[in-house]
Amino acid sequence: MLITFDLDGVLQQNPFGKGVFPEVCGKIGETLVSREGLTVDEAAKTVMTMIRDEAKRRLTSRDYVGAYDWDDIVLVAAKAAGSPARFDVEQLVVKYCTPDYIFPYPYAFEVLSELSGLGVRLAVVTNGFYKYQNPVMEGIGLRHFFPDFITPEMVGTVKPFSGIFQAAIKGEYSLRLHVGDTIIHDVWGAQMSGFDPIWMVKERDLPEHILTLAPWERPHRPEIRPVIAKAFDADLHPGAYPDVTADDCRPAYVITDLREILAVVEYAKEAVA
Ligand SMILES: [Mg+2]
Repeated sequence: MLITFDLDGVLQQNPFGKGVFPEVCGKIGETLVSREGLTVDEAAKTVMTMIRDEAKRRLTSRDYVGAYDWDDIVLVAAKAAGSPARFDVEQLVVKYCTPDYIFPYPYAFEVLSELSGLGVRLAVVTNGFYKYQNPVMEGIGLRHFFPDFITPEMVGTVKPFSGIFQAAIKGEYSLRLHVGDTIIHDVWGAQMSGFDPIWMVKERDLPEHILTLAPWERPHRPEIRPVIAKAFDADLHPGAYPDVTADDCRPAYVITDLREILAVVEYAKEAVA
């Protein structure tokens, strides 16, 4: 059995939202404060929007790998704002790899240990570049679980496209599962690549009577459709994948807690046996 993992929102909290981007936006924003009279807050928000828009522009123009190249995106934003500030985003990630900014999700260590002990092959499939993700995974003590760590700049493509999932398949597996939280990348992408998607959602996003069901029962309930539709609309840029609709995204399993993966593994093994 092979299980591939998305990182952000599944195994790790990365330091971008609370550490890296606030520092970058604050420094670039200084130029907007002095030149355009914005408040410090307004300026930082404006820069964050510029950064997001540049990432979206890259997705739209099919520069998929470039859409995750934060060094280059931040440079473009700094130049557009007329700011002399320059950054080494990898160094900023390393700087913010402290317990205030990064942490593993509950039960990540226990579940990965148990899966390894069962002989399950584990791999990372993330849209974050290796230089940004590896320090976080090292910092939270999960890196050693993953002999394969597949990232966009290594394989020249990104989730949801098949190439990045295919790169994780080394050998013959009776079962291939992918765990992720982003509906288009991790559910649609995985299912199109021959993986059974395990969709990780926040407990508060599932109707209460679905919560009591097993992970393999939840996807079959009609109440899951609006949850999927909402997640689809919340994607950074669903327009980048015009062929995909919310109805095309069909998780095989829905979990709210990493420990449920262990039950899924048992269930899936029986189903193939
Ligand atoms: Mg994620």
